[in-house]
Amino acid sequence: MESLNIQFDEQGLVPAIVQDVTSGEVLMLAYMNETSLNKTIETKRTWFYSRSRDELWQKGATSGHEQHVKQLYYDCDQDALLVKVEQIGPACHTGANSCFYREVDLGEKPHYDRQIIQEVFESIQDRRDNPKSGSYTNYLFDEGVDKVLKKISEESGEVIIGAKNKDNENLSMEIADLIYHTLVLMAMRGLTIEDVKAVLTERMKGDSDE
Ligand code: AMP
Ligand code: ZN
Ligand code: ZN
Ligand code: ZN
Repeated sequence: MESLNIQFDEQGLVPAIVQDVTSGEVLMLAYMNETSLNKTIETKRTWFYSRSRDELWQKGATSGHEQHVKQLYYDCDQDALLVKVEQIGPACHTGANSCFYREVDLGEKPHYDRQIIQEVFESIQDRRDNPKSGSYTNYLFDEGVDKVLKKISEESGEVIIGAKNKDNENLSMEIADLIYHTLVLMAMRGLTIEDVKAVLTERMKGDSDE
């Protein structure tokens, strides 16, 4: 590892972006001084400097919403930090997952969340662990693997038929159905998105060697 030569500003501070190591979600931005940076490295918990209170604080010291530091990066000109953490509970003191929960409307057409498959999978796991009456997902869990395999076979057929037609809107729906039922199967078998991502990542590596 390179030796750290962080460029602290006139007030002795450096901005630190905190990101969820698993999902990539940006959780918060706060400032560190040299002491809090060193404490962060030593304790593997995030420590910041509060400008309003003029004191060091460990994130989660009062709320319990600690951040376990997994990776620490600094930027090209060494004046910003990126802390990748495992976040316990919500990162924001408002109770939001991320401090960046308010979006400025740019008047663009809607864009879709890159993490949506992860989010759908988490809600499937949540139904599995906390069943809800009337839930189709719970119906599938009650019926068992064979029912889901039958649905996957059906939806695959519908994807094929959809692909032969020119209607991309319908094809999108059939692919969404196939993905959803595949995610339910994964949850039943105790697989995670990470297991599948590991395979895809491994294959990408193979790609770049060619
Ligand atoms: P905590 O560190 O979660 O125990 O919260 C203690 C105090 O730290 C809060 O009252 C806030 O002043 C501050 N704080 C906690 N989380 C954040 C955050 N995500 N962004 C800015 N300040 C925070
Ligand atoms: Zn750069
Ligand atoms: Zn920079
Ligand atoms: Zn916040």
